[in-house]
This record gives sequence, C-alpha cells and structure tokens, in this order.
Amino acid sequence: MTILTNCDIFSGDEVLTRQSLALRGGLVHLCGEEIVRPSEIVIDLKGASVSPGLVDLQVNGGDGILFNDDPSLNAITSVVNTHRKYGTTSICPTVFSAPIATMKQLLWSCLEFKKNDKAEAVCGIHFEGPLINPEKAGAHEPQTFDLDEIISFYLQSAKLIPTIVTLAPEIVGNSIIENLSKSGVIVFLGHSEASYATALEAFSAGAVGTTHLFNAMTPLSAREPGLVGATLDSKSQFSLIGDGCHVHWSNVKRSLRGTNRGKAFWVSDANSLAGSEADTGVIAGKTVTKKNGVCVNSDGILAGSCHPLSTMVKRSVQQGGIPRTEALRMASLYPANVICRAQKLGRVSEGCIANLLITNNEIEVIQVYFDGKLCVFE
Ligand SMILES: [Zn+2]
Repeated sequence: MTILTNCDIFSGDEVLTRQSLALRGGLVHLCGEEIVRPSEIVIDLKGASVSPGLVDLQVNGGDGILFNDDPSLNAITSVVNTHRKYGTTSICPTVFSAPIATMKQLLWSCLEFKKNDKAEAVCGIHFEGPLINPEKAGAHEPQTFDLDEIISFYLQSAKLIPTIVTLAPEIVGNSIIENLSKSGVIVFLGHSEASYATALEAFSAGAVGTTHLFNAMTPLSAREPGLVGATLDSKSQFSLIGDGCHVHWSNVKRSLRGTNRGKAFWVSDANSLAGSEADTGVIAGKTVTKKNGVCVNSDGILAGSCHPLSTMVKRSVQQGGIPRTEALRMASLYPANVICRAQKLGRVSEGCIANLLITNNEIEVIQVYFDGKLCVFE
C-alpha cells in the first residue's frame, strides 16, 4: 500500500543504498525495479536510513507509568505508544521484584493486548526478580515469596508468551534453572553475587543470558572473575544499558570484542520518567530524581533509565564509538534473536513485519512505521 523510495536500507545484515521498499499487508516487500501501482502511496525519504523497528526486552514503563504500580491493559497500551514515538516498535513489559499478584496481572494484560497485536508491539514479558540476591537488589524492593508458586507461574507464563526471567542462580539453584529452561522459560542471570564457577554452572544448567551486564552483579576482579567474567567466557547473551551512565564505554567496547560480538544487546530498562516531562517519580517506594539524564533514588542508587532504546543507539555510536550497524543490530536483530522472533522482527527483509525506524545522519528518529503504516504522534 505504501512505497518508500530514495532511502538506504539497513536490512539487519547490510546497508543497501538508494533502494525502495513496499509495505503491503503490514509486511516488508523489497521492490527492486518493480513498477508502482497507481493506488499506492509513494513517500520519498530523501536519502534517510530505514532500519528495523527497535526491540526492547526490558521496559518497566514510560510517560509517568510504572508497570510495578500499574500492570493494567491500559498501562501497556500507553507505554507501547510512548516508546513507539522513539522508534521502539516491540517491547517486553517488565516488572522488577513485584508481588506475584502484580506479575499475574501483567501477564493477563499482555495476553489481552496480544489478542489484537499481529505486528507484535508486545513481543514477550520480562519478570526481573523477585528471585534475586538481596545483596545486589539495586533499586529493587526485596519481596517475600513462595518459591514453588513463582516457579509454577513462570512455567505457565512461558506456555502463553515468550517469557524472560531474571534470577540469581545462588538463590534458586541449578535444578530449578534446568526445569525452567527445559520448559521454555528464557532464563537470564542478574542482581546476583554468583561466583564465576556458580555462574558457569548456571549457564550449563540452561540459563542463556545475563541482564544488564556489569550492573548489580559480581564484577571481574583479579582472582574471581564473577558473573561478568563468566558471561564473557560463555556463549550466553547479555544485555547492556547503553546510556553512557550505567556502564563506561570502555567496558561496553571490551564486552563486544572477539567472539562476544553478536551476544550483546541494548535494553532501555526504562522507568516511568522515560518519555516524560517530569523530573521526579516514585520507584519501589523511593523518590527518584532525573538529573542530567540520570535517574537516582533517595539512596543514591541508579533506578533504571529515562531513555528510550534509540537514545542508546545514538549515544553508543556518537559517544561510545560503536559502529552504527552494530549498534542498530544490538537494538533490533539481537534482541529479536533472544525471543526467537528474528524471522519476523529485527530485520528489514522480505516478509518481515513492517515495523520500521527512519533516521537521519545524526541518528535522530524522523519517522516510525508500525504494521506498515506511518505513525502520527500528537
Ligand atoms: Zn535490574
């Protein structure tokens, strides 16, 4: 129905210069020399870049909403729309160390949302905690929990929707990690004091990744490489909060070297202050203040970020020196891989869902297409 012309397309693999592509039935169709039908709308992108819509696997909220406080269907709709303005077209709604009633409500809301979601605005769900180490809680409010009840809930969730669980292996043990992994739960390690050996055993038991590498975990030190070292030595994937505040660019670049390329992906870890004019909010019972783009709670602890994923792409290129195509893959193709959706999301290739991000040379978002249609924002 819509033809985009005069654009550079980043397919996920390579950049194709001065191309055209058609968006038909909500899917991408590469045009080549095909003749445009009279009924089709032609949009001249004047040399702008077309990239896959961004995929964010850790979104706690946005524009004043925090899923921990409001896990409703309306909240999901609102947060989806907020992040879409910045080029994120698929999210995993996330709660951090929430009571099980909140987690159940979020799951129900996601399932309701997905009844009318063929373009995958919600591509999964992420439960970060409460099975974490209280010593590495960060901004989480430690919860009391019934372990058996939570495990059976995770197993149920994974049957219904791609389900990421972040847990500390030293808290749950490897038999539970093995059980969850074999049943389809995508197990990530995080908020953990795991030693190098414990972390490697957890990866052997089925954990496939590490959440926000470097933050809230055992660091890489002389005689104890910790969860950071184990992650970089294993085949597991890992997320990074690429806002330039959570992790030094030197560490980001170190983690992307050699065989680790392709394992790392950005997450926003966005809180209620993302996409919001407000400078303060309440997160896990504590006042959080946004200052110079950094969110810190009243204990002086980083409490998520206020930036959408596109900011991480832009900053990682402009401040961190990450190649633009790799920075984009880390926000699209690689996270789509984590949830096994890379056939449809995170690429601009024939038959993929037509969720697209249009950027200029400065990597600023100038247009967003969702389900093959140009998004118009208020
Ligand atoms: Zn966290």
